[in-house]
Amino acid sequence: MNTTYMNQTVQMAIDNVKKNGGPFGAIVVDHNGKIIGKGANVVTKTNDPTAHAEIQAIRQACQAKESFQLSDCVLYTSCEPCPMCFGAIYWAKLQKVYYAADQTMAAAGGFDDAYIYEEMQKPSHERQLPFQEIPLEGRNRPFEEWKKHPDKTEY
Ligand SMILES: [Zn+2]
Repeated sequence: MNTTYMNQTVQMAIDNVKKNGGPFGAIVVDHNGKIIGKGANVVTKTNDPTAHAEIQAIRQACQAKESFQLSDCVLYTSCEPCPMCFGAIYWAKLQKVYYAADQTMAAAGGFDDAYIYEEMQKPSHERQLPFQEIPLEGRNRPFEEWKKHPDKTEY
């Protein structure tokens, strides 16, 4: 764990508030200890609900590495990741995550994502935002095509 990088994410979060962004900052560091991705929360600035600090940092790091995986990298973030970023971190196959503030601090600051975690555990028909399965004919075709495709890039 690099204290300088950890502190830097918190400072990025503070600076981002002053620039009217959300109070979050994140950094991706490669196996050489070099910063290859940085991000601050720009959801309201860019009208992008997915523009969380971690997502921004992961996108930049993947561009820098020209790869969709960051398996030799670690993520430093000013706050414990939300469910969306949690998923992105797993998809990116990051090695480890260091976070400063925890979920309860984020909730006290007005960023409560506990209800998303609760929603995820409910059966789809009991969620506040309904997810309805449609048993469409041919709905498995995309996966059949994927399995058959000889030159696919697995991930
Ligand atoms: Zn997030």
